[in-house]
Amino acid sequence: MATSPQQTLACRITIAIDGPAASGKSTVGGIVADRLGYLYFDTGVMYRAVTWAALERGIPIEDEAAVTRLAETLLIQVEPPTIDDGRQYTVLADGVDVTWKIREPEVNHYVSPVSAYRGVRRALTEQQRRIGAPGGVVMVGRDIGTVVLPQAEVKIYLDASVEERARRRYIEMIQRGQTADMAAVLADLRRRDQIDSSRDAAPLCAAEDAVIIDSTDLSIEQVVERVLALAARALRRCCESSP
Ligand code: C5P
Repeated sequence: MATSPQQTLACRITIAIDGPAASGKSTVGGIVADRLGYLYFDTGVMYRAVTWAALERGIPIEDEAAVTRLAETLLIQVEPPTIDDGRQYTVLADGVDVTWKIREPEVNHYVSPVSAYRGVRRALTEQQRRIGAPGGVVMVGRDIGTVVLPQAEVKIYLDASVEERARRRYIEMIQRGQTADMAAVLADLRRRDQIDSSRDAAPLCAAEDAVIIDSTDLSIEQVVERVLALAARALRRCCESSP
């Protein structure tokens, strides 16, 4: 049955993209959202913002209760870019622009232990579900298809070899004008992968119904095309089942 433009507009699906650090989730997610006219939401920035605020306020990272209280009260806002400096969006933590601050090595170092706290995840997951509820969103993270939006119509698990991910992250940092050391980047990714996939609360893993895409030897455009093809199929199904 053919679908009308009105039906296509009425069907706004949810696309969940999970995967390890530097697997290309943000780049692919941003492009897919753009092409569909959907909201792009990177949940990693929320864990990063809490970590940055804890460090900034001198809250010891090992103090789970204090870090959890911070996650429950910190106002995190993700808005369209306010400055033309290569950012995908602007991130505000209690009104402070932390868009680049949350990418600093110290935040990279502590974000995985912070994300392993159940109370932190509970607070942020609740906000992420509210953002995803209306549909028309591409949400990226570690547990979107498994925990945050298990009803998502399209679930992708994007992977790549750790060496390729380190190479991509290294180039990204150099392009941003940061100093980077390849061996350190590789070690940091391995450490974060290990913590993210072995934690008790919402560990990084592919949902049973996720499509696994290994992007090691694929271009960004090839991954985008695969995701868009899956989205088109889900949209057809959604339109056919709506009145
Ligand atoms: O995606 P990104 O590397 O910016 O995420 C930073 C960290 O935030 C991850 O290493 C992970 O520990 C945590 N995270 C998470 N769940 C998400 C998104 C990010 O635990 N949904």
